[in-house]
Amino acid sequence: MRWIGRRQSTNVEDRRGQTVKRVTGGGCGTIIIILIISMIFGVNPLEFLSNIPGGEQSSVTTDTEYQGTQEDNELAQFVGVVLGDTEDVWNTLFRQAGHEYREPKLVLYTEAVQSACGYSSAATGPFYCPGDEKLYIDLSFFQELQERFQAPGDFAMAYVIAHEVGHHVQNLLGINDQVMAMRDRVSQLEFNQYMIRLELQADFFAGVWAHHAQKLNNILEEGDLEEGINAASAVGDDRIMKRTQGYVVPDAFTHGTSEQRMRWFRKGYTTGDINQGDTFNAEEL
Ligand SMILES: [Zn+2]
Repeated sequence: MRWIGRRQSTNVEDRRGQTVKRVTGGGCGTIIIILIISMIFGVNPLEFLSNIPGGEQSSVTTDTEYQGTQEDNELAQFVGVVLGDTEDVWNTLFRQAGHEYREPKLVLYTEAVQSACGYSSAATGPFYCPGDEKLYIDLSFFQELQERFQAPGDFAMAYVIAHEVGHHVQNLLGINDQVMAMRDRVSQLEFNQYMIRLELQADFFAGVWAHHAQKLNNILEEGDLEEGINAASAVGDDRIMKRTQGYVVPDAFTHGTSEQRMRWFRKGYTTGDINQGDTFNAEEL
């Protein structure tokens, strides 16, 4: 991906070097507030895996001496450029539709972080918290993407960021709320199906982003699209489960299969048309 020397978003909040410790005994008030937050905004089971609300409070200490490695700092700049690209695209698309795009913040952290969605460790992977409209990323995930998921390349990382921004777009469009409102009305099994559709739509939006970012900023280099598609495939639930459990449990899918994720990402990229991404009414996913 062509990114060096390009505009970086000013919406990156660098919290690397902060140590967040979970302090128990947050009190009933905290438990209730966090429960309400999670009920209202809902949490994505996979992206919020270790994010079980438990009335925790956290203490934050900042290491003022913190200096990331050169590799990490370069990655942070890259993330800033990709976020900037998502702003360019979604500002344009929202404006064209007569809406205003509210740009999300992106928090870089190391090891653990406190968000409006609770306490999360880096093991959670990148996530979006609708409660504070922020994306959270520990840069070590990108290494995991290369090694554990075997999805190397800078565009693989760009896809992951664009997918999380896709969740923000869903939040702004009210789609997230609509899905979460189903939680108490349908069975867990049915709700999982809605979650899959939500995830596949975020993949579709990532593809729409790639389509327009290419048009606006000419970002793609040879092989980039394949890197993105490969990443969409690598983080499909069936692949993740095979890797972690050795077998696949279809009912537990929350992100869609590798094939579905690739297909929706590709559809977004090919059409660039946000109206083609109604995964909720699609007969075939
Ligand atoms: Zn997602």
